[in-house]
Amino acid sequence: MPVRNPSEPMSIEIQEAISGLIDGLHLPNGANCYKHLAGSISAAVDKDPPYTWRYIQSVHKGTIKAGAPLKAAVSSLLAHQYGIPSQISQAQFVTVLAEPGTIVIGSYVNGQSKLCPLCGILFVTDHPRRKYCSICRPPRKRVRK
Ligand SMILES: [Zn+2]
Repeated sequence: MPVRNPSEPMSIEIQEAISGLIDGLHLPNGANCYKHLAGSISAAVDKDPPYTWRYIQSVHKGTIKAGAPLKAAVSSLLAHQYGIPSQISQAQFVTVLAEPGTIVIGSYVNGQSKLCPLCGILFVTDHPRRKYCSICRPPRKRVRK
């Protein structure tokens, strides 16, 4: 398994994010879809001249690598589509592992990745003082008196 730096968020593939936008905007497939999408993305970030539909299409098909500004614009638009407020509009979609049914797509994660010194996995802390993952050190059960 490749070792990742916790300070480098692993973004979901840009193709996946563009597919999400197409689904969310209920765009029909085809060139018109990319024209509409290029317009929406450009308008969202006040890009002038706007992105061309061919660029968006090529990035979606994986024939061109997306530049950082396009990645940010697509993330921001997708966040808006999920109803994420502007205060956290810098938030980006990332891929995480979660137990089935615990994390719903589009959830805002209020935490930071840490490296567990015992098992070496990356986990999201639920408390700033948590040092170990919940597998190595399960949270203590509160005893009611
Ligand atoms: Zn651990």
